[in-house]
Amino acid sequence: VLSLRDIHKSFGGQEVLRGIDLDVTEGEVVCLLGPSGSGKSTLLRTINHLEPPDGGAVFLRDELIGYREANGKLVELTDRVLARQRAKFGMVFQGFNLFPHLSALENVVEAPVLVKREDPEQARARARELLASVGLADRADAYPRHLSGGQQQRVAIARALAMSPAVLLFDEPTSALDPELVGEVLEVMRRLAARGMTMLVVTHEIGFAKDVADRVVFLDGGVVVEQGTAAEVLANPRRRRTREFLTHVR
Ligand code: ATP
Ligand code: MG
Repeated sequence: VLSLRDIHKSFGGQEVLRGIDLDVTEGEVVCLLGPSGSGKSTLLRTINHLEPPDGGAVFLRDELIGYREANGKLVELTDRVLARQRAKFGMVFQGFNLFPHLSALENVVEAPVLVKREDPEQARARARELLASVGLADRADAYPRHLSGGQQQRVAIARALAMSPAVLLFDEPTSALDPELVGEVLEVMRRLAARGMTMLVVTHEIGFAKDVADRVVFLDGGVVVEQGTAAEVLANPRRRRTREFLTHVR
């Protein structure tokens, strides 16, 4: 479904992504690992064009993201068309990023109604189902400040799912959580994976990657250093950089 081709991105003079190729197929769970500053978040943000890449291309189901071709040249998409493309990616961040003045239910309903122009009543019914599916049926009317971090992150996942995304992008979804709350969020992610959701997950949760990832990609210095099955990359890393990294996160 998702293809990245030779993605480059610099900030100032610093080249943060130095030619990334990555493919995620339908229903695949890909875990992206790498040290701090290796470009993981930047890569996720270039996928839905929150950071326009300096070079290379992102395709979702063969549709070029962020640009269209006109007279043999690439031109930036208008905001409206870009918003329609972005709606195909669900994004879940480290911080929970819920709207603080909206209840859990309203957080989930917001985008489908405003962006997709769904019928509000139908969107609310669907939101209730989604909240139930992440174990929050009884917290629909709670405001974010009255929810634990784990609950907030589960609302954030329900909110992402409400747009029926083609791909879910996670950026360290559990790293801001108290340790005892990590499990409930990973459990929701495991269930999504089992249901065939296509997911690209930046995480330091090696156990999750081992159990759930179809493929593990190790990024360092803005390049893919190594990739393969969890058994290959996590249990038998071929590269010295991967081995060093794994001794630190375990
Ligand atoms: P972490 O594990 O700490 O989240 P990361 O792998 O996600 O790290 P990025 O956040 O992608 O790394 O950052 C890669 C590099 O790009 C860092 O050196 C960072 O300082 C730099 N960088 C990221 N975003 C910007 C920005 N908007 N402006 C300038 N520099 C940036
Ligand atoms: Mg990051």
